[in-house]
Amino acid sequence: MSRKPIIVGNWKMNKTVAEAVEFINTVDPHVTDKATFGVATSFLALDASVKNAKNLIVAAQNCHFEDKGAFTGEVSVPMLAELGLKYCIVGHSERRQMFGDTNETVNKKARRLIAEGITPIMCCGETLEQFEAGETENVVRTQVREGLVGMCPKCVSNLVIAYEPIWAIGTGKSATKEIANATCGIVRSEVENLFGAETATKVRIQYGGSVKPENIKEYMAEEHIDGALIGGASLKADSFIAIINAID
Ligand code: PGA
Repeated sequence: MSRKPIIVGNWKMNKTVAEAVEFINTVDPHVTDKATFGVATSFLALDASVKNAKNLIVAAQNCHFEDKGAFTGEVSVPMLAELGLKYCIVGHSERRQMFGDTNETVNKKARRLIAEGITPIMCCGETLEQFEAGETENVVRTQVREGLVGMCPKCVSNLVIAYEPIWAIGTGKSATKEIANATCGIVRSEVENLFGAETATKVRIQYGGSVKPENIKEYMAEEHIDGALIGGASLKADSFIAIINAID
């Protein structure tokens, strides 16, 4: 079966509300139906982005798993749902490394999102040290297994999982298409072990890490890569439009 590709720009802590709206108004008319294209903005820019985007989907970059309470600085899933969001990134490596996300909290966030009808884009990926020690498969299988605890097969088939080797994020050193495809294949095989072949065939798996207009096509040609999560190259409208045009 064919999976519709999904390509999402992860803006991280970039762009004011005005800058986000300007980007969306520039890029949105160029969006094609060859893939689902979207941007993950700061919390502040979500509302205006949803209101301005006709074709782009808008995603949050994080959420809390509790609905409300004494969690200073956090944003809950019902707050995101109220804006009409359909996607939210969870477990990005920057959140795991700098803000204490664990497989367990990533799982709680993803489950809370699913309950609200928001699709999690769940990130996984190994450090350079783990990569060099040959631990990629073990690390990624564990992140996937623990991240998907307690979910139903149907929920998982709607999920997006992003494989992002940490050594390739923001470094300009992208993984080769062979490595990216092999590890996305490992993600799919872990989903199959846990939830069966039908779910594994449906789940969309992105590669992320220094994806840009010049290399996106070669990743997308790979069997297990159904899209990309893109940081740096998603920030400029020209570059994002070139990415859209590379997908045919
Ligand atoms: P990059 O970031 O494209 O700048 O490497 C990817 C990401 O962190 O999602």
